[in-house]
Amino acid sequence: MFRLRRKVYLDNNATTAIAPAVVRKMHHVLKHQYGNPSSLYKISYASAELLATSRAEIAGKLHAQPEELFFTGCATESNNQIIHSAFEHHFPSKTTILTTPIEHPSVLSTLEYLKTKGLRVEYVPVDSCGRIKMDAYQAMVDDSCFLVCAMFVNNELGTIQDIRELARIAHAHGALFFSDCVQAFGKIPVDVQELDIDYASFSAHKINGPKGVGALYARTGAPLEPFIHGGHQERGFRAGTEGLHNIAGFAQAVKELPKPGKGSGASSQMDKVMKDFRRGLKSVVSGCVFNTPETDSVSNTLNVTFPGRPNAFLMAFLDIKGISVSAGSACNTPSNDPSHVLTAIGLTEEQARETIRFSLSRKTTASDVRYTLRAISEFVNEKDDSIHMLTPFEFDESLMLNPEMYILDIRTSYERKALRSLPNSHEAEFWKMDRYLKYLPKNKSIVVVCHGGMNSPVIAYYLKKKGFRNLSFIMTGMVGWKLAHPDLYSKYAGTNITHLGTRD
Ligand code: PLP
Repeated sequence: MFRLRRKVYLDNNATTAIAPAVVRKMHHVLKHQYGNPSSLYKISYASAELLATSRAEIAGKLHAQPEELFFTGCATESNNQIIHSAFEHHFPSKTTILTTPIEHPSVLSTLEYLKTKGLRVEYVPVDSCGRIKMDAYQAMVDDSCFLVCAMFVNNELGTIQDIRELARIAHAHGALFFSDCVQAFGKIPVDVQELDIDYASFSAHKINGPKGVGALYARTGAPLEPFIHGGHQERGFRAGTEGLHNIAGFAQAVKELPKPGKGSGASSQMDKVMKDFRRGLKSVVSGCVFNTPETDSVSNTLNVTFPGRPNAFLMAFLDIKGISVSAGSACNTPSNDPSHVLTAIGLTEEQARETIRFSLSRKTTASDVRYTLRAISEFVNEKDDSIHMLTPFEFDESLMLNPEMYILDIRTSYERKALRSLPNSHEAEFWKMDRYLKYLPKNKSIVVVCHGGMNSPVIAYYLKKKGFRNLSFIMTGMVGWKLAHPDLYSKYAGTNITHLGTRD
């Protein structure tokens, strides 16, 4: 097992570390408050009480009424329920939902699904920082529109939208307004009354709370339909016994939030760390481009394009150093589809594949940032090109069967059951790579293959550090390779496989 010397977690828009007070609260609830809030005896009354106070605490923070807040399994579920509710209520007398091309997939995929039922969806364009083009929006919203969906803060860019103005315009045309507030909550003030929105969604795990619980805000009077049917929980709008430990953990996470907004202690500390990071990046990587605007953005997020440097390499390099960041593109499809957000703001597919998102937390220190900058500087100043990235199409039959190629398959046994290995593969476990080093040839070209393309660059960098040269990896892993070469997969996969550990 290779160990990381230092851990710097810069992927807080993906999820956050759970706060210690939240763990304590959840532990207490799991141990002592197991009563079902719907049952009719003493221990259940205590659970019902905790459910009510948790709801009131979270609603209070949002300036909502407790009865306007519903607990769900996650924000994805909230987004689905909100959109389906508005659709069921208004369609087909009204036909259109307006949204933006940079919404979270839980919004865009729900809309794609409803298109199959006849819904018309229109996408308001955004500028190069992801800000909605107000003129275009004004021109597009009309009386056929029954819902506008626009997220408050974009998860990839950190860009903040003028939700109040967007909602005002929607209402002027008789449309409802829904804002996915998942990335805004805890970072900037979210006051549903002041914003004058009809619906909003939230997720606990983005604010140091537990995974598996979200919330849905529906203004009193806004149409709401159950999405999950069954019992009468959540006043009949969300069936299923409440995960009380998660809900109480969510409320505790909300209690732990510092006062958001400029000038408050925690956020001014984050502003400063982010400013140093921006300045430092410009000095260590000339030509890097910030896609996150300096104003109208949350101070924890920086989305950066590093021209000429594929993100898979930088991510892997940083991962080896213990730094977790996320790429602006999904690397697990055969075409290596770039992020829909980045292409919507005008990046080419190539630029999108050269883009990384850094998302800080309140705990990120100046020293974390300096460490990250040093690692990035080391990466950009590295001269040698001993690691090559192969598209699945490049890894064709002749390369695959070339005896000079040593195929190192680092997938788990579960992944190997799902997809057979490439012919002549040498199988080894990702997390035990140091044990396998003695088997690997120094005189051959090693091609590392993982399942979806994310782990192989990390191992390629690890092998490089261990003195191996002439390394490559397949950027989309076995999943993408099989999609690119179904015929080769049926002909050769699973033949002549060696499991390295069994050779001693
Ligand atoms: N909306 C946004 C903007 C997000 O960033 C996310 C999570 O990445 C979601 C919705 C989905 O949240 P959940 O993980 O709770 O389903």
